[in-house]
Amino acid sequence: MNQSATQYDRFMEGLVRRNPGEPEFHQAVGEVAHTLLPFIDEHPEYREASILERMTEPDRVVIFRVCWEDDQGNIRTNRAWRVQFNNAIGPYKGGMRFHPSVTLSVLKFLGFEQCFKNALTTLPMGGGKGGSNFNPKGKSDREVMRFCQSLMVELHRHIGEHTDVPAGDIGVGSREISYMFGQYKRLENRFTGMLTGKGLAFGGSLVRTEATGYGAVYFMQNMLERRGDSCEGKTAIVSGSGNVALYCMEKLEQLGGYSVTASDSGGFVYDPDGIRGEKLEWLKRLKEERRGRIHEYAEEFGCEYHQGKRPWGVKADLAFPCATQNEISGDDAQALAQAGTFALAEGANMPTQPDAVEVLRREGILFAPGKAANAGGVAVSGLEQSQNALRISWPREEVDKRLQKIMAEIHAQCVHWGEAPDGSVDYLKGANLGGFVKVADAMLAYGVV
Ligand code: NDP
Repeated sequence: MNQSATQYDRFMEGLVRRNPGEPEFHQAVGEVAHTLLPFIDEHPEYREASILERMTEPDRVVIFRVCWEDDQGNIRTNRAWRVQFNNAIGPYKGGMRFHPSVTLSVLKFLGFEQCFKNALTTLPMGGGKGGSNFNPKGKSDREVMRFCQSLMVELHRHIGEHTDVPAGDIGVGSREISYMFGQYKRLENRFTGMLTGKGLAFGGSLVRTEATGYGAVYFMQNMLERRGDSCEGKTAIVSGSGNVALYCMEKLEQLGGYSVTASDSGGFVYDPDGIRGEKLEWLKRLKEERRGRIHEYAEEFGCEYHQGKRPWGVKADLAFPCATQNEISGDDAQALAQAGTFALAEGANMPTQPDAVEVLRREGILFAPGKAANAGGVAVSGLEQSQNALRISWPREEVDKRLQKIMAEIHAQCVHWGEAPDGSVDYLKGANLGGFVKVADAMLAYGVV
């Protein structure tokens, strides 16, 4: 075993011992440690200050009970968390996730990734994440409202525009943000930008809804342009049909490509003519307004529906996993390669399992990790904070222009840190090093805190 493998094993053994039963967190740190440990070896100032050890320990975690009453008058209890991971370069920032699969491990993985992602945006934002095991699916609007209000009764003590600024994520869209914002305002008697993803009538930013999906496609466009290519005329596999997936499909269409798949936790649809134009508008209404299921798309437009299956392996040029973590296994990655897919940008957080990343690398598939490719959402959240602080609203074109510029800058940082002598780019390495250096240098400057 070589020196760095031993070092990696030792580091990970310590991490697993200190954080038992947190597989998603171990996975996220493991992926970063692979690229960072050799770099830290060459930069003893980081090693001597134990920067990576300190960066893998959240500043604090708040865990609390959320009681609420359902429409039948039953008392229901959920658990909620806010993980304030690292505020070295700005107030904590990261979404809230409401899904039954939410655990401390999931939120620590997301919060850890968020530190790197936010640093890459070039904006002054630290990393955090939160959420609850509450399942909004099948709940009435009033039930969701009561849950959000109850959650905010505790959360409001820990957040604020200069402290920690949550946003949406899986299961938390404009409805949930609005309920939480309304309750915060009532409790604090302050109208302030302490949440992002707000409605346009009360401090929200244009393009925030679209930002993550648009940003992932802009990132893909940057990767392809570097090779003298573009999204024009390309077909794509998109997973999910939520916020990120829908606007990824929309931007792809605007740039001359189209998606042939969409999915939800029930299965995926395959529409070889493309989910575009009127059909994409129909899908948006299905998911955003009616909260319907993806199989209804297949029934409406007469295309294939694959129940319980994921779309990987469908023939297409590009792939955008936009649903959830660990949705691409090693076998799925192999199927992608065999079907001729040559570039993948993660819209979701950590959708590609470590062995799948290895397969993509081996097969020479361009791979953009989520911390770079899906940073457009948090970037426009940062722009929402700026607009709130200035008490102005920028027009759509202005926000979109800034988003494009930020995605190009993230791409440039990945190239700077990840370019090999042969001109190829390891985007995972580039994103990890680019995000790390910014946070680590701030931590070094503060001394031991
Ligand atoms: P949404 O809740 O809007 O949509 C999630 C989509 O993924 C739905 O279609 C959902 O299907 C599907 N999905 C969720 N869990 C599973 C699962 N276990 N198996 C299969 N399908 C699943 O969430 P977002 O679009 O906001 O988020 C998607 C991903 O993007 C997440 O990884 C999130 O962390 C990441 N992300 C989001 C950002 C944002 O701005 N919203 C910013 C950066 C990253 P169903 O409805 O059946 O559950």
